This record gives sequence, C-alpha cells and structure tokens, in this order.
Amino acid sequence: MGHDEQPMHTTILIKKGREKKIRSRYPWVQRGEVAEVVGPDEPGLCRLCTHDGQFLAIGAYNPVSRFPVRVMRLEEGPVDQEWFAQMLHKAASARAHLAGPVDSWRLSSGEADGLPGLIIDWFAGHAVVQVRSKGMEILRSEWMGALEQLAPLSVRERSAMAGREEEGLGPKEGPLLGEPPARLWIKEHGLEYLALMEEGLKTGFYLDQRAARQNLRARVKPGESVLDCFCYSGGFSIAAAAAGAKTRGVDILPVALEAADEAAKRNRVPEIDFIEANAFEYLAEGAEGDGPFEWIILDPPAIAKTRDKKDSLKWAIWRLVHSALPILARGGRLLVCSCSYQLGLDEMLDTCRLAASDRGRALFLEEVTYQDVDHPAPLHFPEALYLKCAWLRAD
Ligand code: SAH
Repeated sequence: MGHDEQPMHTTILIKKGREKKIRSRYPWVQRGEVAEVVGPDEPGLCRLCTHDGQFLAIGAYNPVSRFPVRVMRLEEGPVDQEWFAQMLHKAASARAHLAGPVDSWRLSSGEADGLPGLIIDWFAGHAVVQVRSKGMEILRSEWMGALEQLAPLSVRERSAMAGREEEGLGPKEGPLLGEPPARLWIKEHGLEYLALMEEGLKTGFYLDQRAARQNLRARVKPGESVLDCFCYSGGFSIAAAAAGAKTRGVDILPVALEAADEAAKRNRVPEIDFIEANAFEYLAEGAEGDGPFEWIILDPPAIAKTRDKKDSLKWAIWRLVHSALPILARGGRLLVCSCSYQLGLDEMLDTCRLAASDRGRALFLEEVTYQDVDHPAPLHFPEALYLKCAWLRAD
C-alpha cells in the first residue's frame, strides 16, 4: 500500500497532559486517556493528536483494545512496506553483533523495537512471527513484504497467545512463506538446541535466556549437581552439563523433554536426566530423595500477565523457593527467574527472602541479570524489561 492510498480516517484526541508521555516515546494510549474519536470508530491507522488538535503521532487504533492506540511513528508519514523495511533494518543492525557464535535471535521485540504487537524470531534463517495487535493484523501485507526483503528461508506464524483475545483476534497458526520446518537445530555459543517451531511453546525456543545460559555455564564447576526446574527443551540443563555438572531437568511438557534429550545427545552430554513432572510437586516431594543440589534453577512460566494475577506468581515463587531450600546444599546457588513484568525485582527478591526466612536460611544476592539484548529494554517503555534473574547464594 503506497503513501497516498493509506487510509487514515480516524483522529484520536487524547486528554490534556497525556501528550507528554507520547512525546517521550511511550507507545500505549489507554482507554481512559482518549478524549475524543473523530471519524469512524473502527480499527485502522489513525492520527493521534493533543486535546486541542496538534499532531502527536501516527498510531494503530483498535476501539476494543485495552490500549486503543499504539504509536507507530512520531512523525507524519506512511506506515507502509518501506517504513517496515527501515524499522526491520534498524532492528537487525542492533543484533548484528550476535551473529557468528549464535545463528538465532529475536529480530523484532514488538513495542521495544517500535513495532507494537509484532514479534519476529529469526531461527537460523527461518522466521517465526507472532502478531499480538489488531494494528499489525491490518498491516500484515506491509510488514510481510518488508520481512521478505530479508530473504528468510521460510516464515511461520504462531499467533495463539491469550493477548490476542483482548484485541478481538482469534488464534492464527501456519506457514506464511515457503515450507517452515517443524523443528530446527540452532547454534548458541558452541552448543546446539532444538527450536520446536510447530509443537513448542511461544515461537519454539526461549532466546531471551541466552545470556543467563552462558552465565550459568561460566559459573558452574565440574562435578556440581544442578536441578533445572521448568527446563523446557533443556536450555539451562545442557549449558550446565557442558560445564561438567551432573544435571537433572524437570518439565511437564513431554515434547520439550524429548527435544531436551535429543539435544543432550547431540551436544555429547547424554547423561542428563530429564524427568516429566509437575515441578511444584517434584520439589515439594524432595526431588525423589536425591540432592542436596549445588544449584537449583527455577524458571517458571509467566503466570502473571495482569496485575490481579501478580499475587499468584508471588505465591508460585514463594512455594518454589520454599520447597527448593531443603534440597539445596549449604552454600548452594539458587537461580530464580520471573518473566512477568508485573512482578518487579524488589517484590521478587522480597518473596525469596520470606520463603528463606521461613526455612531458617539466609539468601545472598550475587547478581541480577535480565533478558538478552535481542529483547531490548527501552527506558521509555519499562514494561519491556520483563525477565529478571536473581542469582542467589544460600548459607
Ligand atoms: N528454562 C527454559 C524456559 C522455561 S519456560 C529455557 O530456558 O528454555 C517454562 C516451562 O515451564 C515450560 O517448558 C513449561 O512446559 C513448563 N511448565 C509449566 N508448568 C509446569 C509445571 N507445573 N511443572 C513443570 N513444568 C512446567
């Protein structure tokens, strides 16, 4: 769609005082911030203006969304294939330094890359996309055209996340270009992992924990025992085993455990035990009487997507730490991760402290790490800093 043809019939005026956050590059307008809708009240590109009609941004409007306007650009102009191509080029440049030792990265992290609602993971030349907003649904042919310019070997869509319902969208999965592989070996710092692009969770692999996997590999000593809870396809387990640790991974998803097993063999660390179990129960039952472990990793899924569910994530972390401590060696290390923005670092640490104090143990914070750099964390959009990893030592 060219510049002239791009319809932009709707103008949204926002309440007085709210223009400041938009000018500071915050990408979301909430429902309560809309002062007036001028023109058709239907989804599409819109002009976002101050209460008195001054231009602020070009946005994507979706009246039914929790965030009716998502900012696309702060200057006048089209949101066409060329614009997407520029944005993807910028995103690719910011990741260029990763290439070499790794062949897979998140190419677009949505809002954090100025592309609200568009996630693109690049797995060894194959793209997997997630469309999380109505705006990106409408602009499908524009971004798809731009993505094709990067010559992906294939493009698969995995848009089945809960957030789509809030946008008034149903699930959508399947090939968009070429013949996307169902699974693929990807390279990461001398190790190989299976990305489960068809049957796995999210886009198939947790690229965001790449830096934490490397950190673990650097810190674990040969012969130490590691219990990797919520191991998925073996990310942490294989990194620890590659450092010479005796490792056990626990997850509830059989297809992920099969991939983990295959990856262990491929990386020549076949002695890892992968166990299908509910990690909460497995820990509470004392890990089958084994242990103590020198390392316990707790990387639960994002239970808290909304504020009201935050307490359930806190409760989950409390339970996990509480039941991990009795099987953690004296001086052992605990890696606690939270991939929910809603539960901030302070609250997460406090939850760990409470669980430890209940067990009569002390925890010492050695390091805090975040998602890897291909999941950017713009300071103007704090929600993007979602993954926090607390590296703790127990007394
Ligand atoms: N550590 C992984 C990512 C974990 S994602 C990595 O770095 O790749 C969360 C994982 O928790 C998923 O694999 C999911 O299958 C698993 N899971 C969810 N609920 C679970 C439960 N109750 N017990 C065990 N695993 C669970």
